[in-house]
Amino acid sequence: MKIIADLHTHTNVSNHAFNTLTEMAGRAGELGLYALAVTDHAPSMPDSPHPWYFYNLKRLPEKVEGVWLLKGAETNVRGVDGTLDFTPEELARLRFDWVIASIHSITVGADRLTEDEATRLWLNVAENPYVDCIGHSESGAYRYDYDAVAKVFAEKGKVVEMNANSANVRPGNEQNMRELALACKRHGTLLAVNSDAHSIYQLGVFDTVLPMLEEIHFPLEQIVNSSREALLHVLQAHKKPIAARMAEQEPV
Ligand SMILES: [Zn+2]
Ligand SMILES: [Zn+2]
Repeated sequence: MKIIADLHTHTNVSNHAFNTLTEMAGRAGELGLYALAVTDHAPSMPDSPHPWYFYNLKRLPEKVEGVWLLKGAETNVRGVDGTLDFTPEELARLRFDWVIASIHSITVGADRLTEDEATRLWLNVAENPYVDCIGHSESGAYRYDYDAVAKVFAEKGKVVEMNANSANVRPGNEQNMRELALACKRHGTLLAVNSDAHSIYQLGVFDTVLPMLEEIHFPLEQIVNSSREALLHVLQAHKKPIAARMAEQEPV
């Protein structure tokens, strides 16, 4: 199982991360990655960059250090109603290539949700047309009905993340992650395998996740960053203009 794009990474504009965007792209190039998504923390996180940073991402080239740069954000779910910390109007203006929606206890305002609340939260997020990917959702503190929600994520084309950093920052949720992956397998829900790197040393490191996906025989074609074809396909399906340029420059 090979991962050709890391779709969840932080640069030092989120100031608990350590490397510049150029350093991260340089490392991605060394690793032979095809694409890198930079997804810094959206404004409700204490270490988020000023909103201007996100508007200015458009000024950067599409390729940095030979790697396609997907300009994105890790947005924060603010509550059970699925509201994010960028409004739909802002997301329309920002035109991100990749939007992750994640629960962080500090921004969702609860250390724990009931299964019913967490299920409603993700079903509400699934309705948001700007969300591409569901970040590190396996935490037991926000356990949801994996089957019911994975089915809706599949219908809505949402990509569920298997986050390699979860083993470090949310230990003890390995069984939940496996159950979530199995639900995604059953429902044909797309997955992404991401490092959530906060430095060049974590970038492209997926070894806390890949053996589990191999063990459960997760279908490669359901992993959006397992091949250029799969990545282009999801970017096209999500109507990202960058997909056309990627396909034109390097037809698959
Ligand atoms: Zn996160
Ligand atoms: Zn993150």
